[in-house]
Amino acid sequence: MNKINKVLIANRGEIALRVLRACKELGIKTVAVYSTADKDLKHVRLADEAVCIGPPPSAQSYLNIPAIISAAEVTHADAIHPGYGFLSESADFAKRVEESGFIFIGPRAENIRVMGDKVAAIEAMQKSGVPCVPGSDGGLDDNSSNNMSLAKKVGYPIIIKASGGGGGRGMRVVEKEENLLESIELTKTEAESFFGNAEVYMEKFLTTPRHIEIQILADEHGNAIHLGERDCSMQRRHQKVVEEAPAPGIDLKLRNKIGSICADACKAINYRGAGTFEFLFENDEFYFIEMNTRVQVEHPVTEFITGIDIVREQIKIADGQELSIAQNDIEFNGHAVECRINAEDPNNFMPSPGKITQYHAPGGLGVRVDSHIYNGYTVPPHYDSMVGKLITFSDTRIGAIIKMQNALDEMVIDGIKTNIPLQRKIMQNKVFQEGGMNIHYLEKMLGESH
Ligand code: ADP
Repeated sequence: MNKINKVLIANRGEIALRVLRACKELGIKTVAVYSTADKDLKHVRLADEAVCIGPPPSAQSYLNIPAIISAAEVTHADAIHPGYGFLSESADFAKRVEESGFIFIGPRAENIRVMGDKVAAIEAMQKSGVPCVPGSDGGLDDNSSNNMSLAKKVGYPIIIKASGGGGGRGMRVVEKEENLLESIELTKTEAESFFGNAEVYMEKFLTTPRHIEIQILADEHGNAIHLGERDCSMQRRHQKVVEEAPAPGIDLKLRNKIGSICADACKAINYRGAGTFEFLFENDEFYFIEMNTRVQVEHPVTEFITGIDIVREQIKIADGQELSIAQNDIEFNGHAVECRINAEDPNNFMPSPGKITQYHAPGGLGVRVDSHIYNGYTVPPHYDSMVGKLITFSDTRIGAIIKMQNALDEMVIDGIKTNIPLQRKIMQNKVFQEGGMNIHYLEKMLGESH
């Protein structure tokens, strides 16, 4: 490493452990930060140093920028890895980290800011040649007749989305012209109160799309590559439940075409780090919806099929190194599937925190478990319910699914409820097995929509 000898991990749970492992392999010292609810986290025990940054509520600990920066100062860390969630997509955090003299393991604050504003992100992407959903050019104004004729031109159904939206909130589908103006007003009001930004825009509502995303890596020397795509169509309430790579039915030519568009867009916007371009995919066309400027929960499926350690690459890029892999060096092999394991009731999806009384992890060739849980660990009620990820890899898609069925059967988590029964059902589902899912399929399978 040139500049990074000690990394502060500004996160918790499985991703904190994932970052810690990458640092250890690179010979980098680690600092864990934790809330008082998290003193027993696995990575806190394994890190070289650990600093308590506040009480359980995230706002006072994992989102507390001054506390995290002070922890970096007292431990003399060189760099901060934000993981995903929490401060990972806060341009303000990235800026303050760098202003305080630390390296932010992620993109430049300016890139994060643009991608965090959907209208700005779409404009930047359109300029770079990334295909977007047909719709308004930027935010809508108050001109009713313009908005009506625009919607007619785009074609119903359409969706009104908040520019500052996130987490699946701040959007409204409009089926008929008579509901248009009222829907625009309602979404604006909601957007103002949720996100402090009333700007909304219009897109064609795609009725049966798949969610396909492209992983990219870019260094600060102007090199950018793509690591292929993932299919994350199995979602409930816009939350991904199962992810896989490659996406069923996407051939090499199509992958390389959309992948190079994304890599070129990274160069055009001077992007640095790992990132993901999220697309809706319908009738063989890609439509950009947003870019995530951080490592994704589902990065392991890409790691399995490419053999590239994405977190290690993030750290090397932040260290100022040039990408050591060229696009032509990347080979896509086999198939990987990831099941998110959540501490929740599989019937009503209510979180199920508590003490894990028995834990047995599955294993074997092509089985990866990314989880911080252990026998006797208590899942606190304060954070996301995901307690781990189970990832399987085989030479074929069905091989990876069968391996996943067996791994789920082997996995024991007692004392709390988990979604393992739901994941078993998904792995046995014929439509999923045939790769015939779209973003609405899981809810339909669960009887929650039609
Ligand atoms: P967020 O940042 O809140 O996750 P996204 O723009 O990524 O917002 O959209 C979240 C989800 O909403 C998508 O994964 C998709 O399910 C649905 N969605 C968004 N835009 C459209 C669209 N134009 N047509 C159909 N579904 C959409």
